[in-house]
Amino acid sequence: MSNLIIHRAANEIGGNCLEISSNKTRLLFDFGLPLTSIKEKNPPAFYRFAIEGVYKNQTPQVSAVFLTHAHPDHYGLLTELNPEIPVYTSQATINLLINIAPLFGNDFSHINFIPLNSYQTIKIGPFTVKSLPVDHSAVQSFAYQIKIGKKRLLYTGDLRAHGKCAYLTKKLYKTPSPDYLILEGTSLNRSSKRLETESDLQKRLVKALSCRKLPIIYFSAQNLDRFVSVYKAAKSLNKTLVIDPYTCFVLEQFTYLSPSIPQWDWPNIRVYFANNSLTKKLGKHKFLYKSKKISPKEILNNPNKFIIKDNFIIRRKLLCETNKLCLIHSAWEGYLKEEDNAFKKDAEKFNLRLVTLHTSGHGDLYTLKKIVKNLAPRMIIPIHTICAEKYQNIFNTNTLVLKDGKPIKI
Ligand SMILES: [Zn+2]
Repeated sequence: MSNLIIHRAANEIGGNCLEISSNKTRLLFDFGLPLTSIKEKNPPAFYRFAIEGVYKNQTPQVSAVFLTHAHPDHYGLLTELNPEIPVYTSQATINLLINIAPLFGNDFSHINFIPLNSYQTIKIGPFTVKSLPVDHSAVQSFAYQIKIGKKRLLYTGDLRAHGKCAYLTKKLYKTPSPDYLILEGTSLNRSSKRLETESDLQKRLVKALSCRKLPIIYFSAQNLDRFVSVYKAAKSLNKTLVIDPYTCFVLEQFTYLSPSIPQWDWPNIRVYFANNSLTKKLGKHKFLYKSKKISPKEILNNPNKFIIKDNFIIRRKLLCETNKLCLIHSAWEGYLKEEDNAFKKDAEKFNLRLVTLHTSGHGDLYTLKKIVKNLAPRMIIPIHTICAEKYQNIFNTNTLVLKDGKPIKI
């Protein structure tokens, strides 16, 4: 007999951790921090939940942790993990956690990461776990299929089917029907409208970035889909995209994935050496990018030829020199509602127009229904949602709403 426990995120968005166990073999899937931790600024230890044999000060009793992707609400608690427990995930996720997370003060060097390829199967005790790549706003995200005896579970992690890797989620539809589908439902409390595809967004970006004023565009360097959209839009307009050394370094983490991922030494990319803490933390490595260095003067001499990826230092520098700027926010719009959002504050202070262009990392209602229809699970278990009670009606499929920390037999 096996057990399933959602330790966290049965009824909240983020902070995911679930456990599947049989006799002495225990597997964890994701080990995240709640989204509230971003504002609260407590140390990760504050967000430990009650569990035996997992944390640094406990005797390890868990065989492995499997991470779905490199978003803190899925990995943030790893700082508390006993280093004897191996952590399986994609190489892109490992690169981000080993090389990029330390720039933001998170050290995962004590973790024993083991890379998994897409569709790789691994046997641990009575379990067989298979990585299933999916489309999400984090690079190389996985869902997992878990087999024990004749039972099959599928944990979606976070996913969508409107990004540049939509074909991966569509391939997931062909996975054999699981007994239990542990399904994320982030977007279920939002509008039921279809979400814009990343390629449609790219078309709108071309229009927005073709403005006569110098565009400064804010987006996450780790959202590779968005980077590629902005880069391609810039290229089609015959403009040069100016990025900071941190963004160069993030792109380097993905070189192994494909030679078609833009890099700092590509045509149409120049580097502004913003003198901030992230640039400093790159140490001597940043000098690698020197051949592509650009000054604000060079940009301002020819503003029609450039697009600036937002960085606080260069934004302030340009704001001091000119008011012929156009600000574009290409990330979750919730950030703009925060009182201390510096991008919005600058738009107001300098009386600049602020354009928003974004599409979500999570599947819309249509996609989630399509997943359920195609996979035809015997039972759905909601996770990463505040709409668990609505699943039964929405998907017209048997749904088991769990409570954090309450085990069930599977
Ligand atoms: Zn995510």
